[in-house]
Amino acid sequence: MRYSQLFPKSLREAPKEAVAVNHKLLVRGGFMDQLMAGSWTLLPLGWRVVTKITQIIREEMNAIGGQEMLMPLMHPKEIWNETGRWEEAATVMYQLKDSRDKEFALSFTHEEIVMDLLRKHISSYKDLPVAVYHFSTKFRNEARPTGGILRGREFLMKDLYSAHASAQDLAQFYEQVSEAYLKIFKRIGFDVYVTEAAGGVFTKGRTREFQVLAEAGEDTIFIKPGTHEACNREVFEGKEAEYEKKRAIEVGNIFPFGDKKYAEKMGGFFTDKDGQKKLVHFASYGIGVTRVMGAVVEVFHDDKGIVWPESVAPFRVHLVNLQNYELGFKIYEDLKKEGIEVLWDDTDRGAGEKLTDADLIGIPVRLVVSGRTGEKIEWKGRSDGKTELVELEEVVKRIIPNS
Ligand code: ATP
Ligand code: MG
Repeated sequence: MRYSQLFPKSLREAPKEAVAVNHKLLVRGGFMDQLMAGSWTLLPLGWRVVTKITQIIREEMNAIGGQEMLMPLMHPKEIWNETGRWEEAATVMYQLKDSRDKEFALSFTHEEIVMDLLRKHISSYKDLPVAVYHFSTKFRNEARPTGGILRGREFLMKDLYSAHASAQDLAQFYEQVSEAYLKIFKRIGFDVYVTEAAGGVFTKGRTREFQVLAEAGEDTIFIKPGTHEACNREVFEGKEAEYEKKRAIEVGNIFPFGDKKYAEKMGGFFTDKDGQKKLVHFASYGIGVTRVMGAVVEVFHDDKGIVWPESVAPFRVHLVNLQNYELGFKIYEDLKKEGIEVLWDDTDRGAGEKLTDADLIGIPVRLVVSGRTGEKIEWKGRSDGKTELVELEEVVKRIIPNS
């Protein structure tokens, strides 16, 4: 991608009202734009990051047998009445009427919709287990959508739902999802804390949250010293031991419902091996995809800008050419031929402006070609700040080790 063609360009100043680091840096860097409170456009750079995050999640969901699909975002009132959540979750749910006075909700989650699918399509134990997921927008009437993209009224989530023939099967799959979540967050670069919590409007039972330490986080977690285990305040109150108190961002949450809350209320039945009619054991598992992008920025930044981990960076290389346009063009074409994602600052802006922008945007490798570097290229790591002169061949080898 040529920077001259990228829409939009970075901004000199962060928005005046921005407090959170992710808000300032993602807006200044041209990753996102605010339409209204809690509502963001993911601009081309931001969408590239979100696509990387999505792909990591997709790979790990597929690896445990998850099947991707896509469910509607507008739901009839009747389905929410079946579980009582039309009333129970009314403060968080956007409820609306069409011109014929029919009532709908904008999706804030999809348990009811998946349970409806299960009761229509599952009849025997042979049809179980089922694990389906989608990436889609969630609407939530959040009272205070603050913290940049960490809390939106409209945001992107991955939600997985699973149904099983027994409580043991569910418990086993629940652990598998938990392991998959650890892999996902590790690949993204997070040091994640698995936190025992209460389930809110979702369940009366305990749930497991995945939390990333950051001052911008709205949650407080209580960490068992020397471990990556934690609990939230409600669970902590019943404990005796000494715990370390930290601010954190919840990036994922997994809910084991069992057969009561949804299956019983909506009639999610199957016929078991012994010929008996039973209720499916049900669970749901969320990851806030856009919140993850914000959390990455909260964790990985310095005073100059974002420091993207390689796995989710919008590009692998930020190529900056000073004067030597011909050589810049050649390297750009060569890197593209190798399959390396490169953002080439081909503009005629001054060196200072180009380099400041590269630091702000935070791509892991910056390559500078100039009169001073001759035929060689200056390599600078965004995270370690080290610079050295290398040949093009060496650049490719470092980025694609097996080439
Ligand atoms: P929170 O306690 O932060 O409101 P939640 O418990 O309501 O989160 P879930 O319903 O479990 O969240 O949703 C799954 C994931 O979606 C969360 O772990 C979080 O990463 C993300 N998420 C939840 N609410 C929002 C929001 N308003 N904006 C962005 N992401 C969100
Ligand atoms: Mg919430």
